[in-house]
Amino acid sequence: MKVLVVGGGGREHALCWAIAKSPRLNKLWCAPGNAGIADSAECVAISDSDINGLVKFAADNAVDLVVVGPEAPLVAGLVDALDAVGIKSFGCSKAAAQLEGSKGFMKDMVAKFGVPSAAYGRFTTPDDARAFVEKHGAPIVVKTDGLAAGKGVTICQTVDEAFAAIDECMVGGKFGDAGAELVIEEFMTGEEASFFAVCDGENVIPLIAAQDHKAVGEGDTGPNTGGMGAYSPAPVFTQSVEDKVMEQIIVPTVKGMAAEGHPFKGVLFAGLMIDDAGNPKLIEYNIRFGDPECQVLMTRLKSDMLDILDGAATGKLDTVKPEWHDETAMVVVMAAKGYPGSYEKGTEIRNVADADAMDKVKVLHAGTKMDGDQLTATGGRVLGVTARGTSVTEAQKRAYEAVDAINWPGGFCRRDIGWRAIAREQK
Ligand code: AMP
Repeated sequence: MKVLVVGGGGREHALCWAIAKSPRLNKLWCAPGNAGIADSAECVAISDSDINGLVKFAADNAVDLVVVGPEAPLVAGLVDALDAVGIKSFGCSKAAAQLEGSKGFMKDMVAKFGVPSAAYGRFTTPDDARAFVEKHGAPIVVKTDGLAAGKGVTICQTVDEAFAAIDECMVGGKFGDAGAELVIEEFMTGEEASFFAVCDGENVIPLIAAQDHKAVGEGDTGPNTGGMGAYSPAPVFTQSVEDKVMEQIIVPTVKGMAAEGHPFKGVLFAGLMIDDAGNPKLIEYNIRFGDPECQVLMTRLKSDMLDILDGAATGKLDTVKPEWHDETAMVVVMAAKGYPGSYEKGTEIRNVADADAMDKVKVLHAGTKMDGDQLTATGGRVLGVTARGTSVTEAQKRAYEAVDAINWPGGFCRRDIGWRAIAREQK
């Protein structure tokens, strides 16, 4: 098969690395890719927002399957444009992408399908939003309806904080159109986990769960980021929890979306809150793999990733049964100093090959490029150092040994990825 992966982050490096192992692969491209992806795929200089450019490239090169990594091209209709010219793809339609693109749409849909989730309201005026907050009290969660680069959610401990969040969005226009409509919802408690399922529009198969660390600082403190590390399996995610998630959340959503005329094809990423009794509630849906979660998923995958992606694209998922390493996989994200605030670009990174050669380690690139023969950082999150081990403790030890082999004075990482799971192991 000839395959084009769209995107250029750590998630797409993980996907390219996994796809490149497939005996069914003839040729792999990645648009735009990055310096690490160039080891597995031919990188082509087309932006992931250039829908026409991507469709033209896929048509000109007789691509058999386009695998869309990030959400933005899905929300912009890349899959619909590929469908229109008969090119197969892994990813959902623009209409189904509203599960991530509009929190209000997602909440209305899952309420209709009977999926357990937080009680909520949708608002287009500040007066109505404030009245809802006054009625329900704090803590309460204020969310922009549209995509806001992961910054549109405010957990409000007091009614005044909620009023301030409403005003910022609806009066101050902080998030532009994305914040013109708000979803305000009940605050849920429990432990969070991310679960991934792959759908072909009709069939759905479970992948596995992971837990990530969003805050930049150790002990999960400081501002939120795109994710500073993750691990899988997630100890909180037992088989009984998985069964409930499939039965109460994923399957009703896939059936419901098909009944609504928006069949879901691609990966459904459920952000979940799991209470002490092991009952899951849906926090949110994403319509793509998580980054960095994808890096630990691909590290644990034993089966052919192309079988999974192609099975979803062609409606043959009922024949696909992925197998996974029992070992724990962990990814430690290395970011440019200053991230998620302002940071320097272009700093030099050395010795990545030494780390990559270590046992059960793979270094995935999120934001790198070659400057002559020197690897340099181009983004906030720059490398994902993944490792496998027989326990979270062992995976963490390997991951940090690999981190320490990398010479990047301009970078940093959290030193406590997996702390919650390791505390459990040490009990
Ligand atoms: P989201 O972008 O919707 O995943 O929200 C980002 C983060 O905010 C989640 O990972 C949770 O930690 C938190 N969060 C969102 N909604 C709720 C809620 N209703 N109750 C508690 N925490 C929430």
